[in-house]
Amino acid sequence: MKHTVAIPAFADNYIWLMPAAQSNVVIVDPGDERPVLSYLNANHLTPFAIIVTHHCHDHVDGIKPILAQYDIPVYGPATERIPGMTHPVKQGDLVTIDSATQLQVLDVPGHTAGHVAYYQPGTPGQLFCGDTLFSAGCGRLHTRLYDDMFKSLQKIAALPDDTLIYCAHEYTLANLQFAAHLAPDNSDIQAKIAQTRSMRVAGKITLPSSLGDEKKINPFLRCHTAEITAAATRYATDNGLQPPSSAAAAFRIIRDWKDRF
Ligand SMILES: [Zn+2]
Repeated sequence: MKHTVAIPAFADNYIWLMPAAQSNVVIVDPGDERPVLSYLNANHLTPFAIIVTHHCHDHVDGIKPILAQYDIPVYGPATERIPGMTHPVKQGDLVTIDSATQLQVLDVPGHTAGHVAYYQPGTPGQLFCGDTLFSAGCGRLHTRLYDDMFKSLQKIAALPDDTLIYCAHEYTLANLQFAAHLAPDNSDIQAKIAQTRSMRVAGKITLPSSLGDEKKINPFLRCHTAEITAAATRYATDNGLQPPSSAAAAFRIIRDWKDRF
């Protein structure tokens, strides 16, 4: 396997398989073992490790059944309960897959309190970010840790613009509809909607995205812009809330708005 591959699972999840040396792969967030095991068998691939971003069941429920067939390490967030975890990891740790593949662990709390992401530097780099960043959106806050989530997204935004963003759900079109509602005059969003619609009609996956593209269309990475500040101010005024006095405050307003959209 040459490139990272998406295994669709459930209604809209993607389980990513990242190539490693020879015919080995790294499995990212296996919420369901069945599509993973059939793909491995059909393509004569052997899993080398499982890496996990957070504890939601649709990211971890396939781990134990995979371990029943393959004795491989399981890397996951140090502060969360992950079935079968052998290697708890946190910010600054490195996950060595082979001589060419070393993943850097980033703490990205917010969707869950212990959520981590895995970044492989390169040209382009790859980021496995679970339910933190989506194309044109971001994860729901199960935690209400708004400031943590805002900082987590800022941390991701500091990676190189060509970084490929491997998020865990096909939410792109629905997210874009909210993004367009916030920023109706943003032509990058309109162009992305047209492109995403035609990809979905053709049955194509809209991921990975790139960080550079996300910075143009993703409202949750654009909380510092006049466009999103104006939208958040409008929503705050209509709902009897304080207008945002910072990008972090605008983030909080639009995250709540998205939950009600
Ligand atoms: Zn989740």
